[in-house]
Amino acid sequence: MIILKEEQIKDLFAYCSEGLPNESCGLFAGIITDDVKTVTQIYYLKNTDQSPEHFSMDVNEQFKVISQIRKNNLQLIGNFHSHPSTPSRPSKEDIRLAFAPNLCYIIISLQDREHPVINSFTIKGGIAAKDQLQVME
Ligand SMILES: [Zn+2]
Repeated sequence: MIILKEEQIKDLFAYCSEGLPNESCGLFAGIITDDVKTVTQIYYLKNTDQSPEHFSMDVNEQFKVISQIRKNNLQLIGNFHSHPSTPSRPSKEDIRLAFAPNLCYIIISLQDREHPVINSFTIKGGIAAKDQLQVME
């Protein structure tokens, strides 16, 4: 299970909307206990592809974020990216490029601009399974 605050989700939606027409991306960190992953930090990274159909995170930014996460004694929970005009589920490309079975892959769909959709997935051996996402106030 992954836990996000309502406010964090609002911020994510706003960030991904600002990034249109391109995909936006970033990382999440927080506290992991057993099967519960509580997000405490969201890191907004640059999509160096500047593309509406794919993304690459800026390597230098990633490096800085990972060292910040370590310094703050947090754990990397996963990453997010937006789908400007497709549903909130991993594309074939997303599945092909998912090499971390322990991470959550959050996908924000802006297909319906007024009603963004957020889902989290675990991707193992080429198969994506939806995580249980709990929203806290
Ligand atoms: Zn994608």
